[in-house]
Amino acid sequence: MENKRVVLVTGGTGLVGQAIKDLVDNEQSPNETWIFVGSKDANLSDIGQTETLFEKHKPTHVIHLAAMVGGLFHNMSHNLDFLRTNMHINDNVLETSFKTGVVKVVSCLSTCIFPDKTTYPIDESMVHLGPPHPSNFGYSYAKRLIDISNKAYFQQHGCMFTSVVPCNVFGPYDNFNLESSHVIPGLIRKLHRAMECGENQFTVLGSGKPLRQFIYSRDLARLFVWVLRHYDDVEPIILSVDEKDEVSISNAAEQIAGAFGFQGQLVYDTTMADGQFKKTASNAKLRKLNPNFTFTPFPQAIKETVQWFKENYQNARL
Ligand code: NDP
Repeated sequence: MENKRVVLVTGGTGLVGQAIKDLVDNEQSPNETWIFVGSKDANLSDIGQTETLFEKHKPTHVIHLAAMVGGLFHNMSHNLDFLRTNMHINDNVLETSFKTGVVKVVSCLSTCIFPDKTTYPIDESMVHLGPPHPSNFGYSYAKRLIDISNKAYFQQHGCMFTSVVPCNVFGPYDNFNLESSHVIPGLIRKLHRAMECGENQFTVLGSGKPLRQFIYSRDLARLFVWVLRHYDDVEPIILSVDEKDEVSISNAAEQIAGAFGFQGQLVYDTTMADGQFKKTASNAKLRKLNPNFTFTPFPQAIKETVQWFKENYQNARL
């Protein structure tokens, strides 16, 4: 039998980390011990704290999720912070993993780091083929460097450091702060507040026309665990719903309104930026390697997320 694995999940207190925790907490995996850490356990942009964390837990495997993450408007105003913080975090985690003999690291890229001007659908071979959208270039270049680092660690030292590329994630434990959230949690928070104030109008920023692939965090968690256990290639793999399941922001807003039972009017504030019109990604590689995977239908995932938000409002990240 293979030696016991110790899996350290950085960013373990966040949206994706908590979804993985919920999954493995309900699973029998006698060969694996899972440790979930957040920024209170160690500031991973500090090399000393990163080394102390690894000395304490002695991981054999790492799922590296920790990152400075934010929505369109937060990115646009903080590109330098996103670039520097994420470069430091990623370099510290990968170098400490290498020095302490970690067997495998699965890091996290994102479909929003792909080239702005490109052909669709985007696939794994296109990560570096042109500049990213200017709105989030700091975050994007820091993420792209993970893939470069993985290839360099493999070439020079034979390390199995790989990465996954999720599309937009949403679900329980998301960041619902109106300043820094992504679109779905932002809309959920906004509508909840509007309904509490008895408002009859739900304003969505932008035209509502941009298209996005959204993955439910609980589906992504199952895919992360599959990658950790079964995907042994340094090349990234896109973890996304199918191309046919791309939805418009207005469709997402309508689903959220439906989940809340909102009877009022949806309004689009077209003076606000839309960001990239679309960034359709192909999940053909995933479908080939994991053909039996089923995704939760979008309306059901939205309903579960809204329900979670209402039940956990007091403790949610607001
Ligand atoms: P969250 O914002 O929910 O969580 C971020 C996590 O990173 C938290 O656990 C946070 O810790 C931790 N963290 C942030 N800064 C530091 C730091 N300096 N030191 C240590 N830990 C830190 O993010 P998500 O779960 O949404 O994202 C997880 C990964 O998925 C990220 O790498 C992100 O780039 C990627 N991704 C996310 C997408 C999305 O739509 N959300 C889409 C595609 C990729 P704490 O909370 O304790 O402060």
